[in-house]
Amino acid sequence: MKVLENKRWVNWASTSKSIPASTFYPESIEDVRTVIKKAKASGKKVRVVGAGHSFTPLANCDDYLMCLDRLKRIESIDVINQTVTVQAGIRLSELGDELAKQGFAQENLGDINVQSLAGAISTGTHGTGIQFGNIPSQVEELTLVTATGELLTCSKEKDQELFQASLISLGLFGVIVKVKLRIIKAPVYDFRSEKVTFEQLQEQLPKWIEENTHFEFFMFPFSEYIQTKKMKVSSARPQSVRHFHRKNVVIENYLFYLVSEVCRLYPKSSKRMSQLSAKSVSKQVITANSYDLFTTPRKVKFVEMEYAIPIEALQDALDEIQKKIKKEQFQVHFPIECRMVAADESWLSPSYQRKSAYLAFHMYKGMPFESYFYAMETIMDSYAGRPHWGKWHSKTKKDLEHLYPKFAAFLKTRNSLDPEHIFINDYLRQLILGR
Ligand SMILES: Cc1cc2nc3c(=O)[nH]c(=O)nc-3n(C[C@H](O)[C@H](O)[C@H](O)COP(=O)(O)OP(=O)(O)OC[C@H]3O[C@@H](n4cnc5c(N)ncnc54)[C@H](O)[C@@H]3O)c2cc1C
Repeated sequence: MKVLENKRWVNWASTSKSIPASTFYPESIEDVRTVIKKAKASGKKVRVVGAGHSFTPLANCDDYLMCLDRLKRIESIDVINQTVTVQAGIRLSELGDELAKQGFAQENLGDINVQSLAGAISTGTHGTGIQFGNIPSQVEELTLVTATGELLTCSKEKDQELFQASLISLGLFGVIVKVKLRIIKAPVYDFRSEKVTFEQLQEQLPKWIEENTHFEFFMFPFSEYIQTKKMKVSSARPQSVRHFHRKNVVIENYLFYLVSEVCRLYPKSSKRMSQLSAKSVSKQVITANSYDLFTTPRKVKFVEMEYAIPIEALQDALDEIQKKIKKEQFQVHFPIECRMVAADESWLSPSYQRKSAYLAFHMYKGMPFESYFYAMETIMDSYAGRPHWGKWHSKTKKDLEHLYPKFAAFLKTRNSLDPEHIFINDYLRQLILGR
């Protein structure tokens, strides 16, 4: 197993950094067990990192950091029962490529596919589509290496409570090494992106959420225009996405980077830039495979906060957000991304037992985000919003106890699995244990 000493680690957004004493790259489950036993014997803490795409310091670590990039073998694809069993360090893009070769896909994905499967599960990563839960809800069975170095397997059938606690467990229960995931025959979608007004959106919102397989929209600050993205299952032949992708990469990455730099250098131009971006949204229609449509590269760096609120509150929340941004004249040009997610049973899921609308607020890297995020967070709080674990928020243990009905049960399970607090760092000690 490769081990690097004092290797500096930094996350995607450069908001978290640390220098772990040792970074381990296990190649087998046995390697993972060896590292944990070594840590236990020497009183070291252990954190696992996936792709480092969380904005919060979840993976920060001074002692032993484990990177599961080499633990990514697909063990089997069960075409009859439509499941894949895979080592948990695999990146979603690698998994997607292998599934596509056999005509399968994950039922839903977020905006990007560079995350590790275990990282996406551990933070409740989600896409959009009211019939679909988040990525953890695609999991059928999970195998962890616990603080004693033992293997623990749980599923919907075997130890259901532990299973629902372990899915979104932020690396606090141990190292997820293997996952059995539900998959589907790769669908083809009719994709449609267009510009509508805020009024049209408010009128049609419940209908659009229900009648599309996947529906999301982007609300531009200071503008009456909204960009909607709709996907419906299609029986037509998929088209080539080369031109579609090239155009979107140019608009969403290169052009948007230039716009963002202007805003960083001249923050007062943010309002105008947001209005211009909104106006320039053009109609796009294409029929393509799901894995060609869900994700796009993200080259423009930003900080992000995202909250899940009950779906029934979405229209009121949108009104409030629009008004607040106008009133306070926040210098922000990134649109607010709104997605819909089905309720699930995972104890720390922001959509736990609640059909949810997820609202994501972004700020370009290098621009102050605090006053904007705090103001939006106050609105989210008024709808009992639950924060995305991988994104910026200012919640404390006390807040989380109110927001998550199973929070105390989660802590109890964590304490029994890791009484010596091996899988903890300063950030999680404060946030989850309140110390
Ligand atoms: C550009 C960008 C776009 C994004 N888009 C979306 C989106 O569309 N939807 C969404 O919901 N989120 C999105 N996110 C957030 C992102 O999906 C999550 O933060 C996710 O956790 C990142 O996965 P990762 O592999 O980078 O995990 P990391 O950030 O490396 O780790 C996240 C957590 O998982 C734990 N972990 C990792 N591997 C293991 C393991 N094997 N066992 C136990 N614990 C483990 C870590 O300890 C840590 O607590 C986005 C982030 C960025 C930067």
